[in-house]
Amino acid sequence: MELPVSESVLYVVATPIGNLGDLSERAKQVLADADLIAAEDTRHTASLLSMLKLSGKKLVSYYDQIEEKRSDELVKQMLVGALQVALVSDAGTPCISDPGYRLVAKSKAAGIKVIPVPGACAFTSLVSSSGLPCHRFAFIGFLPNKKKSLDDEVSSWGRLNMPVVCYESPRRLISSLEAIIRQYPEARVAIGRELTKIHEEIHTLAIESALAWAREHKNLKGELVMMVDPSIQQLSQEELLEQVRRGAEDLLEQEPSLSHKDLMLRFGHHGLNKKDLYRLLLSLKK
Ligand code: SAM
Repeated sequence: MELPVSESVLYVVATPIGNLGDLSERAKQVLADADLIAAEDTRHTASLLSMLKLSGKKLVSYYDQIEEKRSDELVKQMLVGALQVALVSDAGTPCISDPGYRLVAKSKAAGIKVIPVPGACAFTSLVSSSGLPCHRFAFIGFLPNKKKSLDDEVSSWGRLNMPVVCYESPRRLISSLEAIIRQYPEARVAIGRELTKIHEEIHTLAIESALAWAREHKNLKGELVMMVDPSIQQLSQEELLEQVRRGAEDLLEQEPSLSHKDLMLRFGHHGLNKKDLYRLLLSLKK
């Protein structure tokens, strides 16, 4: 179907995640030329613009709660006149765990050209400097808060068969790592904190060491992104059975009171067929 062609353009502009030097020349120019800037937080963007000596730009707020209504309004305005609109979030790339996708979708549906102005993004920064295999990976945004949802989410990684990248809060880091180690004791983890800022740190560690590090830094502040390589090896059922047998024997030696159910939970995500796992663990408990 032919769409009406609007003269307007929507630019999706990435802004720095900490270091102002990461704003590209092109992004600066697009912001300077924009008739209107749709910003997640107008005060935040106003201070970025003032640092760039671009004061006096027209800003409209565009955050999660008003996204539906505001995107309709913006598309209407873009259809009426030839407008250059820049979409920005507080930090990094709009639409990546940030508002924006509705405006992009509706603009495209209305025949308005959408142009990306790429730049900083917390998760790509970590992936590229983690040293973990990254020819394929899954980005899942923020991890769920509730224990059951967190366990279910972590459990689903076993089927993905690739590293997983997520945004994380320092407050929840320990409980998330505990959920991960329960299911993937062989995992490797990269933790990126305060990327591109003065206190930037990136640690790529075995899961036990990552958990020990997090426990030593209980009052961690700042922003975090995490990459987890669950390290699930492609073993045959026989090899898996043997691996689980050894793991379960060791565990039972340390904690003989563990029930059959505890063991099922502990080893349920090793890729072993449920019936075989059930029988094996039952025989060990006997
Ligand atoms: N759109 C952003 C992007 O492109 O990365 C992400 C927005 S999301 C609402 C914000 C989360 O990204 C933070 O809570 C933190 O987990 C992560 N993040 C943002 N800046 C970061 C930084 N400098 N270092 C580490 N993580 C960061």
